[in-house]
Amino acid sequence: MKPAICPVCGTSAIQSKGDHVEFSDYEPLPSDYIGHPHGYEWFCADHLEAAKSMSNLPAENVIKALRDKFSENTNQPQTNSPVKAGAISRIIKAVTGR
Ligand SMILES: [Zn+2]
Repeated sequence: MKPAICPVCGTSAIQSKGDHVEFSDYEPLPSDYIGHPHGYEWFCADHLEAAKSMSNLPAENVIKALRDKFSENTNQPQTNSPVKAGAISRIIKAVTGR
């Protein structure tokens, strides 16, 4: 099983009321298997409708398209991701007011 984490923004099912979407490449697992079926992804409430509207496509294509579309406003947990120097001072200013 995969944790219910939105592949677009990294929001988890604990933080947002989302749902699973079956995509064109959905392959149900045989009944005697335990795991995560291919083409079956969970999306947060913010990205669920957009994902559903593209459920006629393979999951991987939809995730890529949505990441591109929503990349401006992502809180996806990424370690070692580069941050623009100016962004840090803006965050500090927003938090401290200085
Ligand atoms: Zn999301």
